[in-house]
Amino acid sequence: MAAPRLEVDLDKVEHNARTLVDRLTPKGIRVTGITKAALGSPQVAQALLRGGAVGVGDSRVANLARLRSASIRGPTTLIRSPMRSDVGAVVAVADVSLNTERVVLEDLDAAARRAGAVHGVVLMVELGDLREGIVVADVADAAVLVGALPGLRLVGIGTNLACRSGVVPDQAKMDELSAVAGRVEARCGHRLDVVSGGNSANLDWALGATDVGRIDDLRLGEAIVLGTEPLHRHPIEGLHLDAFVLVAEVIELATKPSQPWGDRAQDAFGMMPALVGQGRTGAGGTTRQAILAVGRQDVDLDGLEPPPGIDVLGMSSDHLVVDVGDHDVSVGHELRFGLGYGALVRAATSPFVATVFTPAAG
Ligand SMILES: *Cc1c(COP(=O)(O)O)cnc(C)c1O
Repeated sequence: MAAPRLEVDLDKVEHNARTLVDRLTPKGIRVTGITKAALGSPQVAQALLRGGAVGVGDSRVANLARLRSASIRGPTTLIRSPMRSDVGAVVAVADVSLNTERVVLEDLDAAARRAGAVHGVVLMVELGDLREGIVVADVADAAVLVGALPGLRLVGIGTNLACRSGVVPDQAKMDELSAVAGRVEARCGHRLDVVSGGNSANLDWALGATDVGRIDDLRLGEAIVLGTEPLHRHPIEGLHLDAFVLVAEVIELATKPSQPWGDRAQDAFGMMPALVGQGRTGAGGTTRQAILAVGRQDVDLDGLEPPPGIDVLGMSSDHLVVDVGDHDVSVGHELRFGLGYGALVRAATSPFVATVFTPAAG
């Protein structure tokens, strides 16, 4: 089979989604499944919906276009503010988008009316992480503006924390969002369908909270696809951690000196590599090292998890060097690696990495 490849176990994705949906439903919180780490894969989107997600979202218009061509049921949401240059495509592929800018809303309105559609809007509120968001004092005015534009429908409000600055979505932040929801409703005179509290980093709060206030939606990607929560990258109980695995093939196996020899300067990426490759026999000894045909063009070294008993020694554009110890490995064998978020995103977006789904019919 083609290597390197990303193996996606759709049953595990579905299980992870369902487990979280089952824990959040009693609290009145729905799940919007986020596909961006999987390049907007329709198979992954379908697994999220089978697991009980009420809709799917992605940060890229191209990914949403993939989902639309595959006739994914359920509403689609663009979770990054639209570019002004792209509003026509946005209304064509997304039912809803997350927004913060008046000019973009006006452009979206015009594009929606040209298309004979009504586009849903969730206004994002800045609560301290300093990424996207309207300052709290201006949210109600923005809601009134949306209400005045016939091509748009105000679906709700939302916030996003723990992305740029690592600000924790806690009870105080969520209470503030609930309060903003109340004020917006008072100004607009109708109830908001969606109060979206945030991303996977909200799970600790949501699962522990006794009062979730007005929060009724979370946008979950990482927690479902990797089974970890992003604040401390702890595994979430009951979830599979290996729904996505990277498989790479060994192209050289040799016992070599643990230390390089000759004059040393920068490596291929402008770094001065530390002399870490001491191998299992220590300095002056030798290392039984394998080279895999996978590199930084395929995956990020950060978050790449080798099989037990195998250590990563280094990676360049096209080669991953590992210490295989006394593992039964030979040239042509494949090794399987776990993935962190950065490693998964790189693998899913690399043109060199095939994606293979199990079970095959997705
Ligand atoms: C990426 C993203 C999400 C999903 O984040 P995860 O940590 O993968 O759950 C949700 N909302 C927005 C705005 C995002 O950019």
